[in-house]
Amino acid sequence: MVETQNGSNIVENIEDYLRAKDWKYTFEAMEGSESGYSWMKTKDMMIDPLSAVTHPEQFKIVILDYAQGPGAEAFGNKAGWTKVGDYAFSPVYRTLPDLPLHEAIYMMYDPREAPDMESLIGKHQLYCHRDIFEEELPLLANTLSTLKAFLYLGNTYDFVFLAQDQTMAEMKSSEAFLSLPERAREQVCKRRDRMWQQIGPEVGPDLCINEGCEHKRLQLTPRCFIHQMQMQGK
Ligand SMILES: [Zn+2]
Repeated sequence: MVETQNGSNIVENIEDYLRAKDWKYTFEAMEGSESGYSWMKTKDMMIDPLSAVTHPEQFKIVILDYAQGPGAEAFGNKAGWTKVGDYAFSPVYRTLPDLPLHEAIYMMYDPREAPDMESLIGKHQLYCHRDIFEEELPLLANTLSTLKAFLYLGNTYDFVFLAQDQTMAEMKSSEAFLSLPERAREQVCKRRDRMWQQIGPEVGPDLCINEGCEHKRLQLTPRCFIHQMQMQGK
């Protein structure tokens, strides 16, 4: 390792760089809890939390928003679904359905726990907009608690996940969640590898123009591979 001028560590040889040995994973999320519900808001979620938690034996899904339009418009006309105002209510499921939820803001509940959901839902603020603010999360947790919903999930500008405390704990101890750093590293390695295929090797014969660097330059730029990548912020 050498210390660079801006203080970050870079590795000396390309092999270590391609294996991302200089790279550290940090998971950035905003978390909190209120009324028995916990939330997580992050840009770094590469998992489907539904597959990482135990859902109730039977459940319904309420699509609140889909691709910046009302859930009712996108899902309300599907067989077995009903529309309630702007929202779409699914039939009762016992296993996770194969639905395109990647652009949806939705809620899940057990109809035996919350039989009045359809009549109550319109009376509550569900914050089903694209950019959910920090101060709205405790309010939403309170609403979920009142409505007895199982979880709320939004794939918006950020990834927003609110669930009962024990469900959140289960998600955070799941294999999918715990393997995030490893999978993020794989992504970095893939990206660097692709770049190496594109702009490598360091053919020289001149040396890299970065002061003190003993690597030869790439064909297309006056820098070595690592300095070129660093300059591009990759
Ligand atoms: Zn260099």
